[in-house]
Amino acid sequence: MANGEKDPWYQCQRCTNCCKWEGDVVLADGEVERIAEFLEMPLYQFVKDFTRLRDNRQGLSLVDKEGTSECIMLDGVDCRLQAVKPFQCTGFPNRWNFENWREACEAIPAPRPVVS
Ligand code: SF4
Ligand code: SF4
Repeated sequence: MANGEKDPWYQCQRCTNCCKWEGDVVLADGEVERIAEFLEMPLYQFVKDFTRLRDNRQGLSLVDKEGTSECIMLDGVDCRLQAVKPFQCTGFPNRWNFENWREACEAIPAPRPVVS
């Protein structure tokens, strides 16, 4: 569900739950290159070490830490990709969410940030 301007805005509390769910951390067009550059890694090395084919085989996802469903880029409560995190990650829960999402997410209502 997408939120319109009149809907409340939610501030992430870094509970990290959304970084530990099963499923794809989708890398959209251009994000593979942007993240590899941010990590100062050759593109082929980043793709080989940190990505996999998405379940729908329509593109790449970040991999999980071995034996878990936790994103490989989660470092404690921080994201190693904070400055360049995928569009999918920046969009939850305000741009997209799902039924009963608040049961799994600790974000709280807050004033909507002013975009300059
Ligand atoms: S589940 Fe919600 S509060 Fe927790 S890290 Fe994700 S967006 Fe932030
Ligand atoms: S890229 Fe960062 S924000 Fe996105 S799931 Fe991984 S650790 Fe979480």
